[in-house]
Amino acid sequence: MYRQLIERYKQKPLSENALKILKERYFFKKPSGEFVENSWFDVCRRVARVVAAAELINNPRLEKMTAAEKLDFVRQVESDFFDLLASRIFLPNSPTLFNAGIGADYELLYKPLEQMKLEDYQKILDSRNHLHMLSACFVVPVEDSIEGIFNAVKEFALITKAGGGIGSNFSALRPKGSFVAGTHGKASGPVSFMHVFNTAVSIVEQGYRRRGALMGILNIDHPDIMEFIDAKKGNDGERVLKFFNISVGIPMDRLEILRMYENDEEIELKHPKWHHPTKVKVREIFKKMAQNAWETGDPGMVFLGEMNKYYALYPYREIISTNPCGEIGLSAYEACNLGSIDLAKLCDDKGVFDWESFAKVIRTAVRFLDNVIDVNVFPIDKITQAVKESRRLGLGIMGFADMLYKMEIPYNSEQARSLAKNLMAFMALHAHEESSRLGQEKGNFPLFEYSRYPNGFIPFSMDVSDYDDEIREHFNTIAKKYKRNVAVLAIAPTGSISNIADTSSGLEPNFLLAYVRYVNKLSTNEREPLFYVNEVLAKKLPENELLRIRDRLIEEGSLRNIDIDERLKKIFVVAHDIDPLDHLLMQEAFQSYVDNNISKTINVPNSATVDDVLEIYVEALKHKIRGLTVYRDGSLQTQVLTSAKDL
Ligand code: ADP
Repeated sequence: MYRQLIERYKQKPLSENALKILKERYFFKKPSGEFVENSWFDVCRRVARVVAAAELINNPRLEKMTAAEKLDFVRQVESDFFDLLASRIFLPNSPTLFNAGIGADYELLYKPLEQMKLEDYQKILDSRNHLHMLSACFVVPVEDSIEGIFNAVKEFALITKAGGGIGSNFSALRPKGSFVAGTHGKASGPVSFMHVFNTAVSIVEQGYRRRGALMGILNIDHPDIMEFIDAKKGNDGERVLKFFNISVGIPMDRLEILRMYENDEEIELKHPKWHHPTKVKVREIFKKMAQNAWETGDPGMVFLGEMNKYYALYPYREIISTNPCGEIGLSAYEACNLGSIDLAKLCDDKGVFDWESFAKVIRTAVRFLDNVIDVNVFPIDKITQAVKESRRLGLGIMGFADMLYKMEIPYNSEQARSLAKNLMAFMALHAHEESSRLGQEKGNFPLFEYSRYPNGFIPFSMDVSDYDDEIREHFNTIAKKYKRNVAVLAIAPTGSISNIADTSSGLEPNFLLAYVRYVNKLSTNEREPLFYVNEVLAKKLPENELLRIRDRLIEEGSLRNIDIDERLKKIFVVAHDIDPLDHLLMQEAFQSYVDNNISKTINVPNSATVDDVLEIYVEALKHKIRGLTVYRDGSLQTQVLTSAKDL
């Protein structure tokens, strides 16, 4: 089954859209502009080869092998990785695709597998330079001193240059108006400094591939919280803190904030350098958040308390912030590399899901992502150290919405949520089993003994799934002894890689069923139209029917107002056909089996009022989720978009 599946998707041609994106941003080019890579398989060869070479660094088993056995082993790993990437059933995050192999001799990167020698793999490893950065997610701490702040600005610049997205929690900074001993002056506060970070990042380019992306967090009990919530007000998408998503941090139990909200209580705002007793009603804070989110989509919320509750290294280490899109909470100087499995490709046209192949894909993907850690080069030593200590991974999914279309299950249904739990529980089980197996084979993450795993800790909340007994059994037995990675799972937005895979993004419903997209060529700035109709819909509709509705569909994006079979309307829902509560419940369904977080947008219709948005902010506190992002249709979008539409 697995082989057939791989072959089937290896042979499937890439869409024009996918090829265009690859050509614009992913294919290796010489400094002269001449392409070194011309096909998707060239990219896969390079990436699979470099990531397989990690076995020479991280696999103690190889020490006992003869040179011929070693070579066979590494070639086999390369071949497994190549097949998986080539089929586009699994893709790593963009920085891995962009940067793997930078610095290496081209001849070594692309020559036929049978001609590869051990020295060639070693040479590839030795040639990695400071741009060989393969991770998408970073968190940098910002300390309360001018030196600390500008040191962090420098770190932001270095990470942005290498292609990573960065999050910071600015709560350590003393509030606006507090005393500065050195100058006998008054501090200007966290928000003013965020502008410095924004400006620094605006000037640093990522080799024309994408603009930078930042997350700024201020905790709900910081004295400047009201100013922070207004920090992007009046944003026209271009001017104010353009590179930042902003989020209010909830470091305590979310239920405590819910209780304060419901009892109309005040929260005490505090900071060690703030000596005026300051209180504000939690309802006032939420009202302001809802008002601004209604206008611009910012701020979101991040439930840091909830993240630490399921963080295997807490309290030894603490999660202080997330990356820009929220799917990974990190402690100071940690980074994480992501990868996503396309569920739609694991489901055939009759709607039958291939669980056996799914398990194999998960296990190969965990090995792949774990290897990425060892071939990664970070621009800051503290990051290298933090990453090696915890070996955090973010393996997730994409193509969920397209899979549901194939199975004819509406996204906004109990059936879809129960399937989501089963899929994610199955994935958690296999990914964690593989991480423990790798721990046995290659060694645990160095901080394992400081973690909660030896006590039988389960790093997610769980709900009800077919795999609950096996999951409990795993964490109560082998996981107490072996774990290669502090956390393994996350659901990323997959803004770019889902386009390369020709599938729907992350766990999100499709945004539109059909559209014309104008893609900006970064090199020449020309815009070119690309036409698109959802592939599953196109297959399920008779050709003349598709022709009949095509223009209306491009205009509307949804089937909702089109004269067509009611059953199809229920199945082929898009983001704005779905009630906000159904979005929230889907986020919760997935989150219950994910150790890191989930990137999810709660879409609300344009007609929603500020009170409607407020209701979602309060409702979110009641669910086992780790954060909230709301987007009202047609509002001034200030999200740091990562999709190809942005190019
Ligand atoms: P991709 O599909 O390109 O792999 P995603 O859309 O899944 O990326 O985003 C994953 C993470 O990558 C984000 O949460 C963020 O940390 C980082 N990221 C995304 N876009 C950018 C960007 N333009 N610049 C820097 N980092 C980014």
